[in-house]
Amino acid sequence: MPAVSTCLAPSCRTTAEGTVTACPTCGGKMRTPRTIRALGWLLLACGVFLVGLMSYLWTVLAPAMAHPGDLTGGTTFTGTAEQGRTILTVFGAVIVFGLGSTVYGLWMIVTGRRSIAMMIAVLVLAAALIAISWRAMTVLPG
Ligand SMILES: [Zn+2]
Repeated sequence: MPAVSTCLAPSCRTTAEGTVTACPTCGGKMRTPRTIRALGWLLLACGVFLVGLMSYLWTVLAPAMAHPGDLTGGTTFTGTAEQGRTILTVFGAVIVFGLGSTVYGLWMIVTGRRSIAMMIAVLVLAAALIAISWRAMTVLPG
């Protein structure tokens, strides 16, 4: 599947193979593979950042949270075991969402195309993340 440019005019939506900046039908601006690749890099950066940050926090906090009240790894987690599990679930959800963004970002960089299926998958992950965080807020104090 070659990369295509898509006309931005909603009434036109003409596509052309390769990087075409002006629409051959209406002369309007087109979304080029280059724009999609730039978006892909952005998504990839966000995904890698989220996965990295959450993995780091997980590594630091998980041992302490598994043993509430104990001094583990230099920190004491004062919440309950359930709160600890809830926090790790949120971390896990962020990591999965980050991985999804990373995969879709890579896809856009490599192909120069958007993928509706992958976009929906990332949106579903985002929705799941919001739902999990929302539930977490009812369990956690403050
Ligand atoms: Zn057009």
